[in-house]
Amino acid sequence: MRRLDELVPGGLVLALSILAAACGGSETTAAPKSADDAKQFLTNVNKTMLKLGIEAAQAGWVAQNFITEDTEALDAHSNQQVIEAVARYAKEAAAYNNIQVPPDARRQLDLLKLSLVMVTPSDPAEATELTRIASGLRSTYGRGKWCADPSKPQSCMNIDDITKVMAESRSEPELRKVWEGWHTISPPMRKDYARFVELSNKGAKELGFVDTGAMWRQKYDMPADEFTKELDRLWEQVRPLYVKLHAYVRMKLRAKYGDAVPQEGPLPAHLLGNIWAQDWSNVYPLVSPANADAGYSLTDILKRRKTAPLDMVKIGERFYTSLGFAPLPETFWKRSLFVRPQDRDVVCHASAWDIDSEDDVRIKMCIQPTEEDFNTIHHELGHNFYQRAYKAQPVLFRDSANDGFHEAIGDAIALSVTPEYLVRIGLLDKAPDASRDIGLLMTRALEKVAFLPFGLLIDQWRWKVFAGEVPPATYNKVWWDLRLKYQGVAPPAARGEDFFDPGAKYHVPDNTPYTRYFLAHILQFQFHRALSQAAGCKGPLHRCSIYESKEAGQRLNAMLTMGLSRPWPEALEALTGSKQMDASAILDYFAPLDKWLDEQLKGQKTGW
Ligand SMILES: [Zn+2]
Repeated sequence: MRRLDELVPGGLVLALSILAAACGGSETTAAPKSADDAKQFLTNVNKTMLKLGIEAAQAGWVAQNFITEDTEALDAHSNQQVIEAVARYAKEAAAYNNIQVPPDARRQLDLLKLSLVMVTPSDPAEATELTRIASGLRSTYGRGKWCADPSKPQSCMNIDDITKVMAESRSEPELRKVWEGWHTISPPMRKDYARFVELSNKGAKELGFVDTGAMWRQKYDMPADEFTKELDRLWEQVRPLYVKLHAYVRMKLRAKYGDAVPQEGPLPAHLLGNIWAQDWSNVYPLVSPANADAGYSLTDILKRRKTAPLDMVKIGERFYTSLGFAPLPETFWKRSLFVRPQDRDVVCHASAWDIDSEDDVRIKMCIQPTEEDFNTIHHELGHNFYQRAYKAQPVLFRDSANDGFHEAIGDAIALSVTPEYLVRIGLLDKAPDASRDIGLLMTRALEKVAFLPFGLLIDQWRWKVFAGEVPPATYNKVWWDLRLKYQGVAPPAARGEDFFDPGAKYHVPDNTPYTRYFLAHILQFQFHRALSQAAGCKGPLHRCSIYESKEAGQRLNAMLTMGLSRPWPEALEALTGSKQMDASAILDYFAPLDKWLDEQLKGQKTGW
């Protein structure tokens, strides 16, 4: 009943956490409730959510595999059923607030209230208005286009076109133009966004939360303020490494772009290979260390061997079975989509599905013989093995320990796709020696270390906005203050309040919480380190693969089977032995790069 997509524009749909629909129905004001009532209530909720969830997943699967107006309508309809049910149950759950119930039941009641990302106010007119604004913001983004010459439709660029130019162009004026162009899609959202904040806060207050942002933070099994501090602590752990990477990239980009890149100030947001400067992988050719090429290309190997998509998935499955997990069911192979069909439109964006919340797991992707897809397969299967591991839990617990965990599992496994692993499965003859590690680590750092401050700041901005600390009059100012503070990134020219730059990032108009991605980026390294230790890996962390380690598999399974049934620190402990998130695993993983950066930056100023 759950589908998980990746961290890219067009991204994330979670059956249970989309938005609360108009829910103007009357509150239940029946006789006082008892613990037995609560038990009965939860039985009904679990039963109904399972049924509606299966219907929604089937409709969603068909809609994405056969894109037509009809399948789209069926998908929207079944999603609406889920949303309305959750909204109704969340409000009904409040009736048990003061009833003594067993801890498991209490957790399920709490989770119901927390499963919404947006709560509509009980006033029917306001509920309708909020629902309309929310879908309006989403479609304004979805339709977003920038036309270099409005009289020429062929000059119009959607986000895919923009992404391509940002990735490939090395012309500063062109990058600036395209960057500024994309940011013209969002000013029309500004007024609606302010109203959206007002109304969704009203709904959250009715459920007993201070505001929508506090409601989001409440999901993390600790007081909202404490959680904020926890995030700051994690960021401070990795910040020194980020600052070095930032300074090194600045030096290299300055060598390429000259004075467009300041010697000591922030990095220009439009020169990092990505429209949001959240992933710097695309500037690797400009910053690549000398003589650090890995010496092999997995993409070339897969192409040369003509490895079929099905065989790539089999290799991925074998990783998990090598850890002791049961093979995927027959239905997975029959019902998944691996190859782009020739005869119809499908959504090819890679995703993992759990249709019946039991065994009917699938992936949907249009596999190419590339290293990227090879890693993505290992990643997607991580979702499927997680989903299957927690299937014995009550329906409300069939989810990851917190929303960062689901993405972190697949990514942690993908970290085990090392050269040594490729040698062990016969795809590579010989692993490159340690002198090539800097190239490998630089590639990963541009993707994963560069992401961290961005992953953090989106919700820093939103939480302040929901809390009323940032009024509409300073939306854009505070957005850029935060981007400067955390990322050390600045816009190509001053951005006043006639712009609304947060709206040019998908997850803001889509109202998808973002902290999960920051957490996933921290957790995947912590998982990888703990699993590597369990596997007895003595080598440097970035060369450890847990392939074929039953010990690591047991640790992983112990956590996965818990699902959402216990607070996440307990799940974390089951795998790592610690209840605390710890970003020091990132420092361990990138230790050789960190040392190398120190040498490169001798005499250079870091920071901004
Ligand atoms: Zn994923």
